[in-house]
Amino acid sequence: MMIQLRNITKIYPNGFEAIKSLNLSVQKGDIMGIIGYSGAGKSTLIRLINRLESPSTGDIFVDGIDMVNLKEHALQKMRQKIGMIFQHFNLLASRNVFGNVAFGLEIAKWKKRDIAARVEELLDLVGLSDKANFYPEQLSGGQKQRVAIARALANYPQILLCDEATSALDTKTTKSILGLIADIQQKLGLTIVLITHQMEVVREICNKMCVMSNGEIVERGNVEQVFAIPKHAVTQELLSFLPALSSEEILKQNNKEVYKILFVGRYIHDPLISEVIKKFHININILAGNIEALSTTKIGHLFVSFSGEEYRVKEAIHYLEQKGLIVEKI
Ligand code: ADP
Repeated sequence: MMIQLRNITKIYPNGFEAIKSLNLSVQKGDIMGIIGYSGAGKSTLIRLINRLESPSTGDIFVDGIDMVNLKEHALQKMRQKIGMIFQHFNLLASRNVFGNVAFGLEIAKWKKRDIAARVEELLDLVGLSDKANFYPEQLSGGQKQRVAIARALANYPQILLCDEATSALDTKTTKSILGLIADIQQKLGLTIVLITHQMEVVREICNKMCVMSNGEIVERGNVEQVFAIPKHAVTQELLSFLPALSSEEILKQNNKEVYKILFVGRYIHDPLISEVIKKFHININILAGNIEALSTTKIGHLFVSFSGEEYRVKEAIHYLEQKGLIVEKI
């Protein structure tokens, strides 16, 4: 087990109990998503892993090392094995990209020449080789997070902690940063723990997940399991905010021809799909779908694949179009 938290409680000096008797195991190579609303205790939890916070009771083991009883010097050494990135990047404004990535290596007393080589390698890894001389204020949010990732990986950590790492980024940049993290995880075999309030982040890159509420883990498991059968009310609610998959993403997951069916207004209430299945003796596999309530009407999208005799599928599509639905191949 790469990370193990046993019977952890965390009571802040003002008496507030932010973590209540919590157990967590993260295996080597896992991408563990910890999701929950603001105030659930996620930041406290992730900061316990690298001992930026100390627990009030309980044990923390990282790669077999007892983190709670480490002396300061040994703790510093251990922290080098644990990289961390943050929502607001935490770059040094007075240092350029090279200087930011080099910072931890300077502190670890690397030789100048080794630092230069390592920084070059890292900037290549995060796709910023041409930005070494730029200052943070000259970079986009996504680029800043890439610098932060390079910095976090500088000392060859085994673990990467991500504290709402994409929460300050737009949807497209979020995707590219998550893509980069997944890519790096594969290449380096890292163990990742990320905290987020967005289910789409968990859906995009995690294999395991925990749902936190009021300082406790209220649900946990493989991502597919929890998404398929969410048991706790908080999980169900968080999932209900999940944005629909884009057509691209649905296509990526299917090798069959995919159609998008658009319903507007009254058609939403008609059982047209089951009608078409019976009438034309075909099968319709529903891949994704949602209904949006606009202020004036409702719009539904369904992503489906048809199977059956080709001419029957054609007739069925024609029938749906005659009923006023829009059917397009994507
Ligand atoms: P999250 O990351 O899920 O938003 P946090 O771990 O930041 O949750 O906070 C969990 C709870 O602990 C919150 O109710 C917060 O107010 C409280 N808390 C966080 N830090 C402190 C502190 N230093 N002193 C007292 N209470 C704190």
